[in-house]
Formats: sequence, structure tokens, C-alpha cells
Amino acid sequence: MKTIIANWKMNVGVRESVALARATLLTLRGRKQIPELVICPPLVALSETRKVVAHSAVSLGAQNVFWKDAGAFTGEVSGRMLTELGVSHVIIGHSERRAHLGETDAMVNLKVLHALEVGLIPIVCVGETRDQRNGGRALEVVREQVLAAFKSARLRSNDRLYVAYEPVWAIGTGEACTVDNALETHAMIRDMLAKQFSGDQLKVLYGGSVDGENAYGFLREREVDGVLVGGASVKINQFKDVVAAASEVLEAQHD
Ligand code: PEP
Repeated sequence: MKTIIANWKMNVGVRESVALARATLLTLRGRKQIPELVICPPLVALSETRKVVAHSAVSLGAQNVFWKDAGAFTGEVSGRMLTELGVSHVIIGHSERRAHLGETDAMVNLKVLHALEVGLIPIVCVGETRDQRNGGRALEVVREQVLAAFKSARLRSNDRLYVAYEPVWAIGTGEACTVDNALETHAMIRDMLAKQFSGDQLKVLYGGSVDGENAYGFLREREVDGVLVGGASVKINQFKDVVAAASEVLEAQHD
């Protein structure tokens, strides 16, 4: 099964989210094989968006979570609160949060442990900056982020965990990394986590300027369990092609 995560970021309000959720649902219509599709609207739109995707094949994800159940943490939202809204997945450690909100590897780890505790599927984002890549440190940086994110994490038999390899220089730039680059990093991530988690509980996704044109090239690879899509997920014509690419790959596997 291939997975598509749609990260709507802070690009749509409540009404636009509802309309986009409806349009996203339509991208699945008439397809013989459909990918797992998770839409991640802004927090304020989760409740209304849930009404659109309830009883459909589309799941609801959040873009962030705090690591405590409750308490004096103004502005934060716990995993349990998200599950009350029908959320099943949560993006953790997105590079935009790491860069603009000071999210550290230690915070990412606390969020991962909390998400697993309450039964949410964490989608943990890791990836190097352009300077780190140019300095030959890309794999080392990703390795450190993965090690820190999953420190002390244990999965119960039904738990699942996603890691999204998202090179920071590829996010929102229109410059996706090469498929070979993604494959090399995915293999390292899978290898690192093989001892801690079983293979069928872990998905490794690629994110960074995925669009209707390049999605198929990533999705056809066995090592790529899916894609995390930002900008193109709010442009429905682009997104439709990403969904079509995933369906095409799944249909080819099915034949
Ligand atoms: C993202 O939001 O994680 C992302 C990959 O964005 P974009 O697809 O716009 O590069």
C-alpha cells in the first residue's frame, strides 16, 4: 500500500479546508486501487473537515501535537484532544517548525512518545539543509535526527510509525531531490530502525517538491512507501495527478 500525506500547512482556512477536502475526496473516485490518503488541515479546520471525510477512505492528520495530556500549556494541544477530533495521524518535527519555532530533536522525541501512547500514528520529518548536504553531512544529520526521534520508543502490535525524509532544501523550492538520493536515505533509515520496529509497522516516505509530474518516479520504487506533499496538495489539479500516480503504481502491482 502506498501512502499520500497532504500537508496543507497554514495555507487554507476553515471554509477553504472544507472545499479542499471535498475536492480531495473526488480525486479517489473511479479508481480501481487507491492509496492511503491522509489530509492534514490547520488545527482550526480539523473539526469541520472531519465531517467531510467521515466514513470515507480519507484519514485526518494534524500538523503538530504537544507531549502532555493536559495542564497549563497555553496554546498547545494534546494527542488525546486530537483523537477526540477523529485525528489518526500527526506530523511531528516538520522542518518549518524546527526552523521557525525552535523545535529540537528532544522535543520531537517527546512528541513521538506521546503520540504513540495515545494511539496516533506519528509522521516524523527528518532531513538535511543545503549547507549540510554540500558539506557531505546529509546522511549523518538524518541519522542523528532519527536516533533522537525514536529514543526509548516501543511499538505495540497495532502501532504504526511513518518517517518522512524531507531534505530541507527541497521543501517548497520546486527542486525535488533525485530518486537515487531518496533511495539511499530511505535504505539507511529502514536499516537503522529494523532492530527497533518490525518492517510492516514502519513506512518511509519522501517529501520535498513532490508534484503531479515527479510523483510517479518516487512512488514506483519499492523503498518509497509514499509521499508527503505540501504545496501541490492545495492545488487540486496537481494533487489529482499525485493520487493518479499512486493508483497507477498500485494497479501495476496488483496485476
Ligand atoms: C512539506 O510540507 O513537508 C513539503 C514537502 O512541502 P512541498 O511539497 O511544498 O515541498
